[in-house]
Amino acid sequence: MSRWLHKLERIARPLDVPHVFPAIVAGQTFFYLVSLLGLFDESRLWFSWAAVFAGEWWRLLTFLVAPPNVHWVWFAFAVSCLFSLGNALAQEWGTPRFNLFILLGAVLTISAALLSPNEPIGSGFIAGTIFLAFAYLNPNYIFQIYFIFPVRAKYLALLTLFLYTLAFVSGGMATRLSVIAALGNCAVFLGPQLLADLRGGRRQLAFRARQKAAHREAAAAGPRHVCVVCGKSSDTHPHEDFRYRADDRCYCSEHLRAPLAGASAEAGR
Ligand SMILES: [Zn+2]
Repeated sequence: MSRWLHKLERIARPLDVPHVFPAIVAGQTFFYLVSLLGLFDESRLWFSWAAVFAGEWWRLLTFLVAPPNVHWVWFAFAVSCLFSLGNALAQEWGTPRFNLFILLGAVLTISAALLSPNEPIGSGFIAGTIFLAFAYLNPNYIFQIYFIFPVRAKYLALLTLFLYTLAFVSGGMATRLSVIAALGNCAVFLGPQLLADLRGGRRQLAFRARQKAAHREAAAAGPRHVCVVCGKSSDTHPHEDFRYRADDRCYCSEHLRAPLAGASAEAGR
């Protein structure tokens, strides 16, 4: 583990609070249901600096449990995905680091919101950042989209990054801020590993290139030994025992006892 992660771990130690993430998911589900029934206006959970300065300070926390504004079929699917991914990540990282991950995502979101104090922001960054982190750590994990189509996590992550780019270019300020927070959070937690992987990848490429060059040179130089009688070579018969005789020419084990090459050529005439 890198020094960076050790440092994160130390910062995160006091955050060893269980059930934070399940509580967030439960909160989102609860507020989704009561909003669906018309009992609550979910926009009262959203975060904006303008509202906080107007005295609605609870928004500094409640945006975490603001449900996404989507159809219930999609919500049920998204929330169950989010729950299992978050739990998987928490298991891989341990609760403190995972809690720090969510906390830092929230802080990034709140800080980025300074750029646009009037724009209300929900909890969109949580799903994005958890999904990307999970996909980076488990690139070959297979998701069953709608329980039917198997897709590897890395391809879904690439699609997510593509959609993020589109959203960033064409979306409103709130969308852009969520994108910045989700990606920034992943960069902090996965950046060192990402760099190490890239460096490792480059080293591996260089090693492979050197190996290839060596092979090419060997191939260009031709086989080390070639039997003058039958043409067997150390390339075609790597286990053959080639010997050199008094005439300083090469023979395979089969032709070692044959008359000397020059003599046999004359005998053949
Ligand atoms: Zn031979």
